[in-house]
Amino acid sequence: MSNVSMLTEADDTRLLQPIWDLRIGYEEYISSPLFPVILSMAFYLGSCLPFTAMDLFCTKQSWYKKYKIQPGKVVTGFNYRDTLFLTAANHLLLILPASIAQWIWVPPTDLPKLAPSLYEFLWQQVAGVFIFDFQYYVWHWSHHKVKFLYKHIHGLHHRYSSPFVWVAEYLHPWELITVGLFATTNSWFFKSHPLTVWSYMLVIVWISVEAHIGFDFPYLLHNWCPFDLVGGAPKHDMHHQKPLTNYQPFFNHFDRLFGTYCPPMRRGGSKSKELLAYELRYRENKKRG
Ligand SMILES: [Zn+2]
Ligand SMILES: [Zn+2]
Repeated sequence: MSNVSMLTEADDTRLLQPIWDLRIGYEEYISSPLFPVILSMAFYLGSCLPFTAMDLFCTKQSWYKKYKIQPGKVVTGFNYRDTLFLTAANHLLLILPASIAQWIWVPPTDLPKLAPSLYEFLWQQVAGVFIFDFQYYVWHWSHHKVKFLYKHIHGLHHRYSSPFVWVAEYLHPWELITVGLFATTNSWFFKSHPLTVWSYMLVIVWISVEAHIGFDFPYLLHNWCPFDLVGGAPKHDMHHQKPLTNYQPFFNHFDRLFGTYCPPMRRGGSKSKELLAYELRYRENKKRG
C-alpha cells in the first residue's frame, strides 16, 4: 500500500478531520501565538453578548423572571460600566502586553496534517476539565480561607452577590493570570493536538461564563447530567450569595466530600427541600453558637 493511500485511510477514520481542515489556507494566521488569545477573547465576547441582550432588553418578558435565579435583582447601568471597565483594564494592561510578548518570543504553533482522533480529543478534554476543577477548587478555597488573599485578591470578584454574565471576568489581575494559566497549560500534560488545546481553552471560558449568567435554563448541562455531577450556574450563583460554600467551579464531588456544598437556588428563586433543610440546619447551628 502506498503512503498516499495509507494517509487517505487514516484521514477517513478521523471524524474531526473536516473541522481541522478548515485551517487550510489560513495556516499563517492560525499558527500565530496570537491566534489562541484572539480566539478565546472572541469566544468570551460572543458568549457574553446573548446574555447581555437578555439582561438589557428582555426584563419585561415573562420567561425572564421565570428562568432568572435571583429574579428580584436588576442589572444596572453602573454594574455594566463597573464590570466592563475592569474587564477592559485587565485586557489592556495585562492580556495585551502578555500577548505581545508571546508574539515576539513564542514560536508559531506546529500544525499537524491529521486531526486528533475523536477518542483522544474527548478524553483529553474531560481529563483537562477534571484537573482544572481540582486546581481552581484548591485556589478558590485558599483565597476564601486566608483573609489576606480574600481581602486583597478574590474579594473583588465578590462585590457582586447577584452575578450577571460580565462578572465572569470581574477579577483581580492575579486571579485572571491563575485561571488563564490553568486554562492554557493543562492540555500540555497530554501533549495534546492544537485542536484539543484550543477547544479545551474554550470549554474553560464557557464554564466561567455559564457559572455567572444568573439564569437556570433547562437546556444547560447541570439540568440533565446524571448523578448531580455538575453544579452549573445555580451552584455558583449560590457561592456569590453564601461565599463560604460551593468552591468547586464545575463539578460537585469535592464540595460534597469536604462539607462545603450548599444546595443551589433554582430558576425563579425557587428553593428545593434540600436547600430549605440546609438553611434550617444553618440557623439552628447559629443559635447554638
Ligand atoms: Zn464567581
Ligand atoms: Zn469565591
